[in-house]
Amino acid sequence: MPRVDPEPNWRQQGFYYYPLSLYFREMFGSSVRKISVDAGFSCPNVDGTIGHGGCIFCDNRSFSPSRRMNIPTISMQIREGIARMRARFKTSAYIAYFQPSTNTYAPVEQLERLYREALAEQGVVGLAIGTRPDALGDEVLDLIADLAKETWICLEIGVQTACDASLDFLNRGHTFAAFTDAVARAQKRGIRLGAHFILGIPGETRNDIIRTALLTAPLGLHSIKLHNLYVVARTQLAELYAAKQISLIGRDEYIRSAVDFLELFPPNVVVERLAGDAPREFLIAPLWSCEKGKVKQSVEEEFRRRGSYQGAKFGSKEF
Ligand code: SF4
Repeated sequence: MPRVDPEPNWRQQGFYYYPLSLYFREMFGSSVRKISVDAGFSCPNVDGTIGHGGCIFCDNRSFSPSRRMNIPTISMQIREGIARMRARFKTSAYIAYFQPSTNTYAPVEQLERLYREALAEQGVVGLAIGTRPDALGDEVLDLIADLAKETWICLEIGVQTACDASLDFLNRGHTFAAFTDAVARAQKRGIRLGAHFILGIPGETRNDIIRTALLTAPLGLHSIKLHNLYVVARTQLAELYAAKQISLIGRDEYIRSAVDFLELFPPNVVVERLAGDAPREFLIAPLWSCEKGKVKQSVEEEFRRRGSYQGAKFGSKEF
């Protein structure tokens, strides 16, 4: 179990959890922004290696090879992203975030070339690499471990839940054990790890959410992202939702679940996200998840109401 700082820096600064913005300031001495880049990778859960349909919440039609031919180069995407950010924020340092699809799913030589292309851009101080647990072979992890000796890297793994029945329902094509195996092999190499979770999967109870937190909180993760399950157009989930075969977690219950979850995580784990993040034009439901500022505010109010904070129940038997 990780050592817990009883009075972390962020609490002294009035936060209820350890926000990414503060971590970046501590780490890099300035504000840092993430720029999403699309390297044109596919996904083993879409191309037939593991499955064809992909996860039920993922609009993966854009992953087909024919649609991926005219993607701008990584350098072009980063320069464009930096220009956009500069117009809005006072930032001069950026993390290139390999975000759509499975960003470790290619031969290692190709991965290294693309990661290095991003790192060579002026202002880029590191990489975030989004992937799934079963696309992390030892060769890929060796490459990331080597690059991490030169720069800041966080490998972000989608796990979503510790409940295998829910992973089946989401058609993830992997088990929770695949996640813990990937975490163990990455940590043996000293790789910084993030994990993505979904709270409010149909059929899951509060106990299931608590169980996921209890099983993942002691793993030594660097960061976590929490999402509510949201429905975007052109997905299997959208069909289930239209047919009224599922219902989504309500806003208040989500806020309580997020706070329950964060109370169980150690205070040194960085919280990168508190709610789902779909573009409004594709989002079908729930519309409240568009209002990320309000979700954040409500999470803080719930912490305040409980007199609680991230890590308040880490290692505790009462939850
Ligand atoms: S969510 Fe990730 S793992 Fe699932 S189909 Fe989409 S890209 Fe693949």
